[in-house]
Amino acid sequence: MEKKEAEELKEKLFNKKENGWNTKNEDEKREIFEYAKNYICYMNKSKTEREIVENSIKIAEDNGFRPIESYESLHAGDKVYYNNREKSMYLAVIGEQSIEDGINIIGAHADSPRLDLKPNPLYEDSEFAYLKTHYYGGIKKYQWTTIPLAIHGVIVKTNGEKVKINIGENEQDPIFTITDLLPHLAQEQMKKKLADGIDGEDLNLLIGSIPFDSDVSEKVKLNILNLLNIKYGITEKDLLSSELELVPAMPCRSMGFDESMVAGYGQDDKICVYTSLTALMNVQNPKKTAVCIIADKEEIGSMGNTGMESHVFEMFISEILNKLGVNRPNLLEKVFCKSKMLSADVDAGLDPIYASVSERNNASYLGRGIGLNKYTGARGKSGASDANAEFVAEVRNIFENNNIRYQIAELGKVDVGGGGTIAYILANKGIDVIDCGVPVLSMHSPYEVTSKLDLYEAYRGYEAFWKNA
Ligand code: MN
Ligand code: MN
Repeated sequence: MEKKEAEELKEKLFNKKENGWNTKNEDEKREIFEYAKNYICYMNKSKTEREIVENSIKIAEDNGFRPIESYESLHAGDKVYYNNREKSMYLAVIGEQSIEDGINIIGAHADSPRLDLKPNPLYEDSEFAYLKTHYYGGIKKYQWTTIPLAIHGVIVKTNGEKVKINIGENEQDPIFTITDLLPHLAQEQMKKKLADGIDGEDLNLLIGSIPFDSDVSEKVKLNILNLLNIKYGITEKDLLSSELELVPAMPCRSMGFDESMVAGYGQDDKICVYTSLTALMNVQNPKKTAVCIIADKEEIGSMGNTGMESHVFEMFISEILNKLGVNRPNLLEKVFCKSKMLSADVDAGLDPIYASVSERNNASYLGRGIGLNKYTGARGKSGASDANAEFVAEVRNIFENNNIRYQIAELGKVDVGGGGTIAYILANKGIDVIDCGVPVLSMHSPYEVTSKLDLYEAYRGYEAFWKNA
């Protein structure tokens, strides 16, 4: 065979894994950068699950969504949402087709790894005041020392009054930090394994050093409490009923000389929240009911009444069935068995510096588009939610027909590690689910990296799914 013919045959038969930027013209690149600008803006206002829910409700209401409680009955085209304790939420656009044919779901999570304050956080040592923390989710502890940290969250008083806290984001605000040992005196620490270098109980936030002007004990702690009392009207006891989260006080930024990437905290999985939410805003009068999940607690196992394991999501869909006037025994289960879902969560992008943990044929790459994981799990696919080939083909078909750049990968080499998302929870209800999100570098670190191309392809891909599945 002639070389040219063989080249043509290769072109026809091979799965060409192409850099997505090569496929975009100048107009498309402009659109990608414009979308990324809005994403960065959203990220800088939304570092915690509560802030994600608050800002997502604003976007939804601006686009005609209303609380499901405000509807007596529902009809095709109606846009509803349910705010689950200000930490997770569900949205839906009612479809024209009978809901008994199933619904199309995209679900992401709003929580990200961070440091939470303990219930009794405040103490004084050697005339410094500190807050004790308990880390949330899978972190490498050494990454959280010597970086600027902000405090976000709520303090709830016994009378129900809720004080919102957000310190460290404005330039006028102070920031906080966790200290580390100077190298000159770190000989013993430096011999430790990376995992043991920083002890969990040493992740204590330094918050003050001026003593209260009086002859009492714990003067620095007293001074801090006095400041907090003047500013927020709280006492130490009120911290018992608070949820205060330490997040990096570093803004999300455009990255690289070519500005092709985004660096910022919490992109796992707020990048999938933003892309799916903004895609849903483009869905008008879908054939099938389009449902968007913004879940909480994914990073610690999805438990609790704001996590995906809770039955609040079923309640939301049941309410839709009730208000459509079609509900009857077992209908919810039947609807789920006919439904389809993209579990929108980030994927580990191949990092050339650490390529030894990836298998190049089955890794996802930054810049090659939205990443699908047919299955997750670890060691012989244990605990995996493994998508059915029929469903994978259906999603491929939607993406290919709509010219969405996509790649299918798995998380790391066999037996190196693994992970999971909310996919299995929905799959257990009978829904066809596949993991589908954006590849990330430095996942779970205070400063994660993504490609603007993948960000944009996720947005387009999610929209195509809701409009065509
Ligand atoms: Mn995630
Ligand atoms: Mn994660």
